[in-house]
Amino acid sequence: MATVAEHPVKSTKRSGRRRQVEAPRIVTVYIADDGDIRHTRCESRIAFMGVRGRQELDFYCWTCREHVTLPELVLADIPQRASAR
Ligand SMILES: [Zn+2]
Repeated sequence: MATVAEHPVKSTKRSGRRRQVEAPRIVTVYIADDGDIRHTRCESRIAFMGVRGRQELDFYCWTCREHVTLPELVLADIPQRASAR
């Protein structure tokens, strides 16, 4: 019979300072004060291209000519800040 872990969140580092498992911080994009999602590197708006595999949202930065893929789950965690432009 399998034993159920007594501590649902286990530290994987010996220091014990590791935080609970969290979604990675979003640094590639941010939501500007006008509501647009912008590419952090160039401050340009990124264009929504579609959904991949029902889990990832695909955006494209026309300035950098680069795809930006975001897991759908992190959308609520995109940081907001004033746009530089
Ligand atoms: Zn860009």
